[in-house]
Order: sequence, then structure tokens, then C-alpha cells
Amino acid sequence: MDKIQNYIDGQLTDPLSGHYLENYNPAEGVVYGLIPDSDEKDVQRAVKAATKAFPVWSAMSVAERSDVLLKVADLIDRDSDLLALAESVDNGKPLSLAKSVDIPRASSNMRFFATAILHFSSESHLTDNKAINYTTRTPVGVAGCISPWNLPLYLFTWKIAPALAAGNTVVAKPSEVTPMTAYLFSKICIEAGLPSGVLNIVHGLGPKVGQAIVEHPDIPLISFTGGTATGKSIAATAAPMFKKLSLELGGKNPNIIFGDCDLKNTVDESIRASFSNQGQICLCGSRIFVQRSIYDQFLKLFLERVKALKVGDPLEAGSDIGAVVSQAHMDKVLAYIELAKKEGGEILCGGAQVKLPGRCENGYFIAPAVITGLDYNCRVNQEEIFGPVVSVMPFDSEEEVIGYANSTAYGLSATIFTENLKRAHRVSHQLKSGIVWVNCWLLRDLRTPFGGMKQSGVGREGGEEALRFFTEAKNICISLK
Ligand code: NAD
Repeated sequence: MDKIQNYIDGQLTDPLSGHYLENYNPAEGVVYGLIPDSDEKDVQRAVKAATKAFPVWSAMSVAERSDVLLKVADLIDRDSDLLALAESVDNGKPLSLAKSVDIPRASSNMRFFATAILHFSSESHLTDNKAINYTTRTPVGVAGCISPWNLPLYLFTWKIAPALAAGNTVVAKPSEVTPMTAYLFSKICIEAGLPSGVLNIVHGLGPKVGQAIVEHPDIPLISFTGGTATGKSIAATAAPMFKKLSLELGGKNPNIIFGDCDLKNTVDESIRASFSNQGQICLCGSRIFVQRSIYDQFLKLFLERVKALKVGDPLEAGSDIGAVVSQAHMDKVLAYIELAKKEGGEILCGGAQVKLPGRCENGYFIAPAVITGLDYNCRVNQEEIFGPVVSVMPFDSEEEVIGYANSTAYGLSATIFTENLKRAHRVSHQLKSGIVWVNCWLLRDLRTPFGGMKQSGVGREGGEEALRFFTEAKNICISLK
């Protein structure tokens, strides 16, 4: 059985309590490993190590820091097959997805911020020839980074890369549901020569390890990605301690399809936006609004494609839909299907557990579901389900669909399909979401601001936004008289 260890002060170590949690393989529904059930004592050790490492790491030249992080990126690429397999086994996602998206993105995250920091500059302002102001941006200290299970190494590196590049040291907690690639990453950091204590990874439960990180007085900034309810509780702890906070939370994203769209591209992208990673991406478009003029045509084409998606063993080539991440999550998603029926929805396809033959017979597989007939404001259309479930609704006017799109508590991303340029701009500007894609979905440029409005989060990640978050600005004003 694989036994994961913490990474503290440069060493792989057991949790001080000696206790472990079980790690499940969701495709088989069986325990295949053990995870440290760490507690505040392990967090305390990690914070001590990070605090000790901070003066040296933050004073190191930017080029030296960049070199170490680039080495980490190279080692991720070297081990990409191993990491992709580990991610697929731990999370249930198709191996093909882990190979093409998760792991390449993890090394891109490291490489992007390792080089971005070389070009990071601060401002100076000449003030009416009376004074010169210049701003310095220095690392803050020990950063707490907490990440979720849906894109494990991808989102883990998305936080720690800018934190480390900017000169902070880090205490990180990956999700206890998918800890494996963060563990393999700690071995890569050791091999790359990352100095001891610069990155510390403490595995365990959110309310124990996560909470201990959030409330630790020597951690002045917290970067969190996860559910909105968890984000709220983290903010309640961190705000009175005046910590810097970045919160990337849930979504209930609209996918708006106008009658003048390119239908083939719209169907292709809508399939990806609906069901990639079993619909377990915060950016998935789970509410599909289709203009009435093409509603029947779209639905027919879309349904044909959904029914052709292969739910299968994540390790087999050709599987489009793997397992959802856990029994508890499968139960939650299936409960929403039942709720959809109660709310008057018609399940046009999918929505039930799939029993696969062979090694996956006890895995957590759900056939992708398409629901129609629901009101835009029912619970199924307002709450985040985070699974392979979409609701399709007709609309008539632009004004009406903007109202529907903006009706939830969330505001992470939105997708629009139209060939009318003016409409694309007009609607984009009126949507209350941090990210809008037009005629595409999840086309990412790591330089752009990433994050949500309303209950989808606070702050932005990506590019300069991340480097600004992980540094403290100081303005120095010098009189010219
Ligand atoms: P979660 O909130 O349950 O857990 C996220 C992380 O927080 C885990 O590491 C968990 O152990 C930890 N945690 C739990 N309770 C904690 C506490 N009290 N204090 C500190 N840490 C705690 O979320 P999840 O189920 O792992 O992930 C799914 C959610 O993440 C979805 O809502 C999804 O939309 C969201 N998400 C958002 C983004 C984004 O960029 N906006 C990206 C991916 C996922």
C-alpha cells in the first residue's frame, strides 16, 4: 500500500501523531494508500521550518530562485507519465486528460512564474517635479496555500509557483481526497535542490490541518481554492487577523448560445465545457441557455454527442468520462438528479450510476446527464453540483438571458456563442463574472487575471495579479526640494 509522507524542512516525514487516513481509488472504489492524518503540531513544525528558511530564500537573487523552479518544471516533464498515471488513479479522471491537461499545466505553472519573476517590475511616479515616489514589492513571509481535489497538481502548483517565485516560503495543504501528486512533487523538489523549509507540504483534513494553517499567527497570507462554504469559514478566521486573502471559490457558470452561432463549434465546445473532468471543473458551463430559434436543433445535436461519450475505465484509451472523485461526491450528484425530477425537470439522458465490468465494478461512475424543463431559479439551476450534469433552457431575448445568467450567487465564468461581434461585446460587458469566453471555453493564457465575482471569490490569480498578491507594496516618497 502506498504510504504518503509530509514534506517538512526538506525531509519526508511521518505525522507526529502516527495516524493515517485512507486514500481511495475512485475507479475501483477501494482503499489503495494511506495519507498522514496530520494536526496542528505538524503545521507548527512546518511553519517553523518555513520561517527559518524565509530570510535566505527571500534574499536569494531572483535568477537563482528562478533556476530552482525551472529545474522543478523540467523534472515534472521528465516524470510526466508517472505523474499522469498517479493523478488518474487518485482522482478518477481519464489518464488521457491527466496527460494532456493536468501535468503539462503543472510544469507550465512552474515555468511561467519562474520566468515571470525575472520581468516583474514596480512603479515610480514623478510628482509635479516636487517629489519622486517609488514603490517596492517585497515578499510577505510564510504563505499558506490550500488547494482542492478536482485538478490536484495543476491547482497546487498554480499557487505555490508564484508564492515561491516572489520570494515567500510556503506551508501548503493539498486536498486529502487527492494527495498523491503533491507527495510525488515533494520528491521532485528535493531532487531539484529546493532549499530545506522553502516549501512544506502537510497532508490531512481541512478542519484540522487547513484550519491550523489559516489561524497560525505567523502566516500572514492565505491563498485558497475550494468550495464557497469553506472560503466563508476561512475568511471568518483570517479577516480579524488582517491576513492577506485570495479566495477562488465555486461557480454555476452560464453557457449562452445565440441563434447566430457557428453550431458545430458551439456543440463541440459545449460538450467540453459540460463534461470535461466529469464536470468537476469550477469553470464548467452547467447552465446552457439556447435561443429559441435553434433550441431544438442544438438539443438534438448535443444529445447525440452526449450519448456517444464513453463512460469507462480511466486508464483505457477512449474513455471520455472517468469516475467522480468519491462515494460521497457521487451521492451528492445523484441527489441533485433526484431533486431535478422533483423540481419538474426531465432527464433526457444519463444521471444514474454506471456499473462497469471488471476492476471498475465498484467505481463511482455516473452517465452524463442532460436535463430540460427546469426554471432558471430552481435549486438545481442555482446551486453548484460539480458533476456531469447540465440543465438546458430556452430563451428569447438578449436582455432575458443576461438576467438568467446573472441570477445566481456565483460569478466565476461565462461562455457566449455568437457570430455577431457587437453582441459578443455587449453581452460580455453585462455579465457579472470574472471570466468570459466567446466562441471557446477554457482557453487559458496564464498572464490574464483569473477569478470570480460575488460568491465565486475574492481577488485574482494569474500573471502580475498573483505576483502582486504574494508581495507587499511599499511606497517611498522623496522630496526633490
Ligand atoms: P473544499 O472547500 O471542500 O476543500 C478545499 C480545500 O480546503 C481542501 O484541501 C480541504 O481539505 C480544505 N479545507 C476544508 N475545510 C477547511 C477549513 N475549515 N479550513 C481550511 N481548509 C479547509 O473544496 P473541494 O471539494 O476540495 O473542491 C471543490 C470546490 O472547489 C468546488 O466548489 C469548486 O468550484 C471549487 N474550485 C474553485 C476553483 C476556482 O479557481 N475558483 C478551482 C477549482 C475548484
